[in-house]
Amino acid sequence: MYDIAIIGAGINGCSVAYEFIQAGKSVILFDKDDIAGGGSGAAGAFISPKFSKTGELKEMLNAAFSYSYDYYKTNFPDSFSASQLLHIAKDEKDDLMLRQYKEDTQFQLQKVSDTLFDALTPEAQKRENISINAAVVDAKNVCHSMSQGARFVREKVESLVYDDDFWIINETYSAKEVVLATGAYENVIKEPYIDVRGIWGHRIDVKTSTNNPCSLHQFVSIAKSRDGVVAIGATHNIHYHPDKNSETYDIKKGRAELLEKASQTMKLENIEILKDYVGLRSGSVDYMPLLGSLILSNATIASCGKRLQDKRIKYDEFSYYPNLYIINGSGGYGFVLAPYLANILKEHILSGKKISAKIAPARYFARWARRQRV
Ligand SMILES: Cc1cc2nc3c(=O)[nH]c(=O)nc-3n(C[C@H](O)[C@H](O)[C@H](O)COP(=O)(O)OP(=O)(O)OC[C@H]3O[C@@H](n4cnc5c(N)ncnc54)[C@H](O)[C@@H]3O)c2cc1C
Repeated sequence: MYDIAIIGAGINGCSVAYEFIQAGKSVILFDKDDIAGGGSGAAGAFISPKFSKTGELKEMLNAAFSYSYDYYKTNFPDSFSASQLLHIAKDEKDDLMLRQYKEDTQFQLQKVSDTLFDALTPEAQKRENISINAAVVDAKNVCHSMSQGARFVREKVESLVYDDDFWIINETYSAKEVVLATGAYENVIKEPYIDVRGIWGHRIDVKTSTNNPCSLHQFVSIAKSRDGVVAIGATHNIHYHPDKNSETYDIKKGRAELLEKASQTMKLENIEILKDYVGLRSGSVDYMPLLGSLILSNATIASCGKRLQDKRIKYDEFSYYPNLYIINGSGGYGFVLAPYLANILKEHILSGKKISAKIAPARYFARWARRQRV
């Protein structure tokens, strides 16, 4: 019997595993593929804040950025590289937003050197920009390091049954608590209100004679050069899903899109494509992540009935699966959010700390129930 079972060994599952291992708990971690074999293995894993107008998501990402930056630096220094980040506006609207952002930001702004500025295309030079100290982590390495100390089982979880006080997984393993960290790939628990959409992404490593001194973000991200190699990513494709589309993904088209977008920011000379990475991000419909207990829809409909149409209904009134949690919906910020969210989840499970309603799955259920007019 394990204290906790985690299904999905991406950055979310591995961050939860790390929290519980640190708390002295026994952890079993499942993945149908390898550790970081899903969206996490494809990520450029930039650790950056969200440059946008004010809003809940921006605030959460800024807090998560500060938290995760220190967390990776302290706990996983071998997988962490601090790097100057130059974020460049895409258009005039973005120019305005960045100007405003710079006035209000809590982050210390960095100077853009003449060498860096001169390396940008004339179009990129004309746009507003902001530069701060950010970081990149080695996606696969960090997931492997985080899961040290957990028992890793390479198995697809197909059955999850609650028996008295514990969960039985695939009729073989048992655990007191279960965390679903399955990303956009599939839901082990089929509940109609859980609605995460897969956003397919492609990034490439290229060899180039151009030296890029920092991370650049504009239409795509171009990472700082390392031994003549830069990572360029990523595409956002909501129409392709590896489990749903019959045709294979057009890798050449994806490469062409990445190179074209990168060329709008910096001219990279003598390019040779070394490696492609593809995977799904998991996007939530309101862009906020999903963290916390899952609602038993049938039981809640039976107990709450028509009161579910009332927007003022308290989430405490819903019925929940016992000791079953989800961490998902991090979109393009999984590496920024995961350590921050995993810590909140640990505090919730071990110390009973409440999770904000803004990220609780209950908000999804409440909206779904109103739409269904149950
Ligand atoms: C190309 C690309 C670039 C990105 N760049 C960045 C970036 O620079 N910075 C950033 O912060 N984020 C980035 N992201 C987003 C980030 O990668 C995701 O938000 C993050 O990977 C989500 O992690 P996850 O653990 O939820 O999902 P995943 O990494 O997809 O992990 C889910 C895992 O669950 C497993 N699984 C699913 N069902 C089962 C089952 N039934 N049984 C067992 N295992 C199961 C899957 O095999 C998978 O390994 C990028 C994403 C992509 C695709």
